[in-house]
Amino acid sequence: ASGYNLLRDPHHNKGLAFNEKERDAHYLRGLLPPVVVSQKLQEKKLMHNLRQYKVPLQRYMAMMDLQEMNERLFYKLLIDNVEELLPVVYTPTVGEACQKYGSIFRRPQGLYISLKEKGKILEVLKNWPEKRIQVIVVTDGERILGLGDLGCQGMGIPVGKLSLYTALGGIRPSACLPITIDVGTNNEQLLNDEFYIGLRQKRATGKEYADLLHEFMCAVKQNYGEKVLIQFEDFANHNAFDLLARYCKTHLVFNDDIQGTASVVLAGLVAALKLVGGTLAEHTYLFLGAGEAGTGIAELIALEIARQTNAPIEECRKKIWLVDSKGLIVSSRKESLQHFKKPWAHEHEPIKNLSDAVNSIKPTVLIGTSGVGKTFTKDVIEAMASFNEKPIILALSNPTSQSECTAEEAYNWSKGRAIFASGSPFDPVEYEGRIIMSGQANNAYIFPGFGLGLVISGAIRVHDDMLLAASEALAQEVTQENFDKGLIYPPFTNIRKISAHIAAKVAAKAYELGLATRLPRPEDLVKYAESCMYTPVYRSYR
Ligand code: NAP
Ligand code: MN
Repeated sequence: ASGYNLLRDPHHNKGLAFNEKERDAHYLRGLLPPVVVSQKLQEKKLMHNLRQYKVPLQRYMAMMDLQEMNERLFYKLLIDNVEELLPVVYTPTVGEACQKYGSIFRRPQGLYISLKEKGKILEVLKNWPEKRIQVIVVTDGERILGLGDLGCQGMGIPVGKLSLYTALGGIRPSACLPITIDVGTNNEQLLNDEFYIGLRQKRATGKEYADLLHEFMCAVKQNYGEKVLIQFEDFANHNAFDLLARYCKTHLVFNDDIQGTASVVLAGLVAALKLVGGTLAEHTYLFLGAGEAGTGIAELIALEIARQTNAPIEECRKKIWLVDSKGLIVSSRKESLQHFKKPWAHEHEPIKNLSDAVNSIKPTVLIGTSGVGKTFTKDVIEAMASFNEKPIILALSNPTSQSECTAEEAYNWSKGRAIFASGSPFDPVEYEGRIIMSGQANNAYIFPGFGLGLVISGAIRVHDDMLLAASEALAQEVTQENFDKGLIYPPFTNIRKISAHIAAKVAAKAYELGLATRLPRPEDLVKYAESCMYTPVYRSYR
């Protein structure tokens, strides 16, 4: 009987890789065809099969099936083919998967906590089979990538993020817990979709929302203790900032859309300065989009400038301008601004559109974080190229359809001079006989290593200095060879090594700040981080 169950247990199943002895010892005889194959060969076969699928969503589903069938093989594939598979299990494909989650849904891959579970959240957590959880990624589905409110179908995001925590950061899969909090959705299309898997009601707000989240946060701490990392993911900004502010003093919380993005983008900017010259303080920044990503990045840039120059943070913020859906954020708008925008309301006449803002502010760095595609028009890029020898242009909105411009447009319109990176990946571009590669400001550079650093040090709180440490660690990984190709981020092929370095820097900060509980501090933190990382090699069963 146990052999049959073994083949159906994704944590232990090895498929045809069970050897003769294991087949004897675990009642597997006859349940498998005679051949015994290596994990390497299984990997080769699966990659071959995967590449037959031309539709990205089919690749995504094949990967999810593999994860459900043979977890170690899933991670082996993801780790060995990270550049190829990242866009499959994460942005952009995961976005489409969430949109169609209702119809492709097969098995629950995480915990669903809805308004129906109010008052019982602790019990719900206890229903999850794994007890030793280290990282939770939780969403309420209100702002999935740049796709808006996908309600309960946002589950694809925590699932995808946690598979990257394991593959790129080496957190054990059994220590990862994806959670979707379902308070309803305002997406009419989903409410009318017969295959929708979530609560069929408008979103709860105000006290009802806050109470459910508070119960959740308390239950998590009660059940898993103080060292479990809770990563907030793809919450709408009207909740994201408040949740972070409310729980950062009592829980180990991290918002990847605000803090992770900020750390990744700062790393890219620091690297870009090696190509462009000047210090962070000598540049002028203009953002399109003043939400979680925009203001999060802006604040971390200001913090780093303050650290480098010893100037007051208010002064440092004056180098940074943001445009939202109503135009340039300026002091005359201050009264009506959401609180997270107020620090950016500088003295300036009102400006309605981006193009005018660019021409008036004359930024050296232009960053798109509005979630609206095609907003870096020819005018905008040409203007950037007219007053900058090497304009830094980051089109961060995801997925690809929402990108502010394509890599090709950025290079063509700037006559090949732009230093460009984007949120979703673009193929290399040929410009006047030169092949230019553009970097991807992918959050996956930072959060897995960042989380690993928190876990290995037993950190109990996140501190901004840890974000700066992570940025610095990532920027250091960009080589001359990368720069020569136009890249301001390192390739993903070395990501596990990069994650270990980031983890070590983050852990070191945690110890320095007295926020680490794993004592004594390991001597060599890089080595220690590497030794803690999960590997997908099969174990032998005797
Ligand atoms: P958010 O909190 O909802 O913020 C969106 C911001 O864009 C708001 O300030 C909004 O203005 C503004 N906006 C919307 N439409 C606009 C328009 N037509 N013109 C000017 N501004 C407009 O969202 P977020 O979390 O910051 O994410 C934004 C985008 O960044 C998403 O596409 C996301 O995928 C992407 N992102 C990328 C990365 C990455 O590359 N690593 C990381 C995180 C996020 P109002 O405030 O006036 O409504
Ligand atoms: Mn996100």
